[in-house]
Amino acid sequence: MNPVFSIIAPIYNETGCLGELHTRVKEVMDQTGESWELILVDDGSTDGSTDMIRDLAKKENNVKPVIFARNFGHQIAVTAGMDYSRGDAVVIIDADLQDPPEVILELIAKWREGYEVVYAQRAEREGETWFKLVTASLFYKLIYRITDVKIPLNTGDFRLLDRKVVDVMGSMRERHRFLRGMSAWVGFKSIGVSYKRAARYAGKTKYPFKKMLKLALTAITSFSYMPLQIAMWVGFIAAGISILAIPVVIILRLIGSQFFFGQATTLIAVLFLGGVQLISAGILGEYIGRIYDEVKGRPLYITSEAPEKKFKG
Ligand code: UDP
Ligand code: MG
Repeated sequence: MNPVFSIIAPIYNETGCLGELHTRVKEVMDQTGESWELILVDDGSTDGSTDMIRDLAKKENNVKPVIFARNFGHQIAVTAGMDYSRGDAVVIIDADLQDPPEVILELIAKWREGYEVVYAQRAEREGETWFKLVTASLFYKLIYRITDVKIPLNTGDFRLLDRKVVDVMGSMRERHRFLRGMSAWVGFKSIGVSYKRAARYAGKTKYPFKKMLKLALTAITSFSYMPLQIAMWVGFIAAGISILAIPVVIILRLIGSQFFFGQATTLIAVLFLGGVQLISAGILGEYIGRIYDEVKGRPLYITSEAPEKKFKG
């Protein structure tokens, strides 16, 4: 029998949070009076989280472990959780309790009203550095502007998805995944529920600046061609300026003016255009690398231990 609810938590070195996560999720989910499963996806932990997950699954039969062969990253871990989930509604939650499990009840209430995507929207954030707050806010504004998908502001992956949505997203096997974008892209009846994002329960963030940058690049390249078009616009502008400049310089020379004489102008122009060309080549490279990753068609993740799979992707 399939449970009504599946809760998915990606785990990367979360020994400090795992026990508390299970206790709080259990407390909340038992209040629904429905059957539920907690899918813990171990994303190549090295701190003993894997054994903790195994022990928990032995004691609690609605805890389902999915153990990765190595670290594949947060978005892939959540995807695996979705592939293995069997519930009519699926809730994605962080393991560090920054997303309070109690909010799940509000998400479920909206789902019962008929909404197919219920995303949790942070009204307040606790215990984040100003650097993270500023970069996150700039990033979401940029994404909102340059992409066609309208990703609701101030949302993370904490959300409830109806089975229909999970199946559609599961059939999208792109390797570079930005789940909140994909969830907005597929559509369906959506609504937000606002909540107060808590501080991390234990441990440190598993998203150093490098990983954040990678996710940001994935978000942009997955949903926008804008970076590829920048080169064209700069090209038009540079060509336009030079076309205007040619007659100006000819006239200046004819009237004997010394304007625009010398190397400096040449040097600046050469450096500027050389720079623009290299940046454009780099942007092209970013997209080509991603195309290469997709055409290789490797599996998104490799599990060393997992229950029977619902989605055969
Ligand atoms: N996570 C993961 N794989 C990774 C990095 C993170 O599964 O490579 C998990 C992590 O265990 C947590 C969630 O993703 O459950 C969010 O990570 P974190 O709380 O460190 O990110 P932050 O909230 O600081 O952005
Ligand atoms: Mg966190």
